[in-house]
Amino acid sequence: MSEATTPRFRSVLDRFAAYKPGRAVMSPAGRSFKLSSNESPHGPLPSVQEAINEAARNINRYPDNNATALTEAIAAEFGVAPEQVAVGCGSVGVSQMLLEAVAEPDAEILYAWRSFEAYPLLVALSGAASVQVPLVDEAHDLAAMADAITANTRLIFVCNPNNPTGTVVRRAELEAFLDRVPADCLVVLDEAYREYVRDADVVNGLELLEGRPNLVVLRTFSKAYGLAGLRVGFLVGHPEVAGAIRKTYLPFSVNSIAQAAGVASLAAAGELLERVEGTVKERDRVRGALLADGWTVPPTEANFVWLRLGERTAQFAAACEAEGVSVRPFPGEGARVSIGTPEENDAFLAVAQAFPHRG
Ligand SMILES: *Cc1c(COP(=O)(O)O)cnc(C)c1O
Repeated sequence: MSEATTPRFRSVLDRFAAYKPGRAVMSPAGRSFKLSSNESPHGPLPSVQEAINEAARNINRYPDNNATALTEAIAAEFGVAPEQVAVGCGSVGVSQMLLEAVAEPDAEILYAWRSFEAYPLLVALSGAASVQVPLVDEAHDLAAMADAITANTRLIFVCNPNNPTGTVVRRAELEAFLDRVPADCLVVLDEAYREYVRDADVVNGLELLEGRPNLVVLRTFSKAYGLAGLRVGFLVGHPEVAGAIRKTYLPFSVNSIAQAAGVASLAAAGELLERVEGTVKERDRVRGALLADGWTVPPTEANFVWLRLGERTAQFAAACEAEGVSVRPFPGEGARVSIGTPEENDAFLAVAQAFPHRG
């Protein structure tokens, strides 16, 4: 019998705090504006809601483990073969699948920092080591990332646009970077916010797949498609890579309602992307208003803005909360604020205007 008085867990669990989701707050006036998780401010389209209701009638059955209809719909929408697609429980789930496929005790996983807060968590859980390369001017430093590649680097995340700063890497620098990555190392281009990109120099990752078998493009239904609550995302890559990743799929982890909603969302892509256009206009209005008010805001191609508040970050988040606006603070660094409805954005701008920020 061991002397331990509690169950033994992997030591890695002691080294990090669990993922903290954005929280909703309520002002004394009963107002609540959730701008902390980069969600779509819109509810489902009627056609998507109908598909959800229909699928809900059959939940005594297991989902299609191969997600056949969804995989075919994704392939048709993006002009690739179904063999190039792997779906998962959100793109976070797909990221976990990717790490399952490559992580070994000596493996290094490389990514910029600060970037998506799920990366360090998933890497630590996988048993691999994180190698973080600091942002420069709030953007990926791809040259430094290429320099940081070692013989143990198994996977590189490139988050484009970057969460939480909204900055992008453009075609030429991305291609130069990809040319420097060894063929046995995967590059995961996380394009969770692709639909919000308007800068013509930011290449659609799908266009880079040709001739690059170590590249995979990660997409999600959680943001522009408005299905964050249903948890479905996917990758597109070369058939051998997608096939390897599919082996790591936790059986049935994309549920039948999510599969049906994904198919219906692709069928309604035109309508959904019109809504995205509204968010893009609001993004440009919000950033413009902040700049006019004297704030420094990096150019953003996503559905959020980044304020590097440093030591005043927590104070700023508290000022927002007092008005019912929840943002995503990274204490000591800055705050990420999602673009919501015009009314929500105005509530945020009013707090920003009242907050001492110049000089
Ligand atoms: C929101 C986000 C995702 C989406 O995650 P899901 O699991 O698909 O909801 C993926 N990557 C980044 C960088 C994100 O910000």
